Amino acid sequence: MKELSHIASAVQASTTLAIDAMYKQMKADGIDVIGFGAGEPDFNTPDHIKQAGIQAIEDNFTKYTPASGILPLKEAVCRRFQKDFGLEYKPSQVVVASGAKHNVYVALQVLLNPGDEVILPAPYWVSYYEMIKMAGGVPVVVTATEDAGFKITPSQLEAAITPKTKCMIFNNPSNPTGMVYGEEEVRAIAQVCVDHEIYVIADEIYDCLLYDGLKFTSFASVSPEAKELTIIINGVSKTYAMTGWRVGYSLSNEKLAKVMGNYLSHSTGAPASMSQKAALASIDGPQETVETMRQAFEERRNYLVERMNTIPGVSCIKPEGAFYVMMSIEQLVGKTLHGMEIHDADDFASAFLKYGLVATVPCTGFGAPLFVRWSYATSMDNIKEGLDRLERFLAE
Ligand code: PMP
Ligand code: GLU
Repeated sequence: MKELSHIASAVQASTTLAIDAMYKQMKADGIDVIGFGAGEPDFNTPDHIKQAGIQAIEDNFTKYTPASGILPLKEAVCRRFQKDFGLEYKPSQVVVASGAKHNVYVALQVLLNPGDEVILPAPYWVSYYEMIKMAGGVPVVVTATEDAGFKITPSQLEAAITPKTKCMIFNNPSNPTGMVYGEEEVRAIAQVCVDHEIYVIADEIYDCLLYDGLKFTSFASVSPEAKELTIIINGVSKTYAMTGWRVGYSLSNEKLAKVMGNYLSHSTGAPASMSQKAALASIDGPQETVETMRQAFEERRNYLVERMNTIPGVSCIKPEGAFYVMMSIEQLVGKTLHGMEIHDADDFASAFLKYGLVATVPCTGFGAPLFVRWSYATSMDNIKEGLDRLERFLAE
């Protein structure tokens, strides 16, 4: 048989989705496992949003839509960006796709020529790395240490830029670290990108999940020059607990939006029509549920971080957004736990799943091999039980 595509064959399976599938299978097999794997809100989609989806089906809104989404949804996105960030976009600058993951993918496909370099601050979300390669690009990883609050500096960015640099992926608040770049930090990073004319894929999907009273700064809002180079990625999955509806969107300059729309017209055709109506209801409708969920996440974060730091052998810094905590396992390296020698996060996460019955995500594929990610998008009871299990697992 002839060989398969080299690019496709090199793609690794998504660790987050693989762990989630393993956890769900163990649960289905009757095993008492607790999952801190996939970053997916445990809340149900709010009722008024579900109703809009049901109504769309009842109204036979079940046909193809324009490839980059329906106009009312694009208009709602523009209204939201005007209201929340003072950013003016036209509907022709909005591209709706089948999940924000798909928006990132399409943005990279549209920006990159083979061999183009993409700056990727680490720790990074596992899918970025693979998607850059899938688009023929070369990931250039810039590491932000835990001591630096997992944030890169403008001089680190500057040092990584070469004549081949096409863009940077800037995820704020970050998956997996949960850290948030404040306005001055965003401004300084944006200035480097403007000076070197590099595009920025600004993934802001966690923009509504900030804690300690922090305020979010959208990358495009810092200057007109930054706005011109930025493709904002956002969506409804995290803010409205709508992961399965598969709707995300981007905002960019008109030329980029047009090319992304053309690309979509030959790939997905369009996002699901009824999901677009539900997404419209989420953005246009009452926003109280967003705050209720945010407060629940903040409470869980506080408990998780405080208690984790009392457990000998592990530690974490306090994340300021999203719903992830990065647990350092550095002190455990070289130790043997339940008969398994721990070299890195992969070893720890498999031992913890097998002997502790807790699913977490090793950050080996996230550019942080000595960290394990806990998603606290799960109930407080699960968080308490998960930490009890961690204590027992490490004590034996
Ligand atoms: N960006 C980041 C940083 C994420 O964590 C996720 C979560 N899957 C996504 C994008 C994609 O979200 P979705 O495709 O569900 O809209
Ligand atoms: N973004 C989430 C995570 O990191 C969902 C799973 C995925 O799409 O990777 O867990």
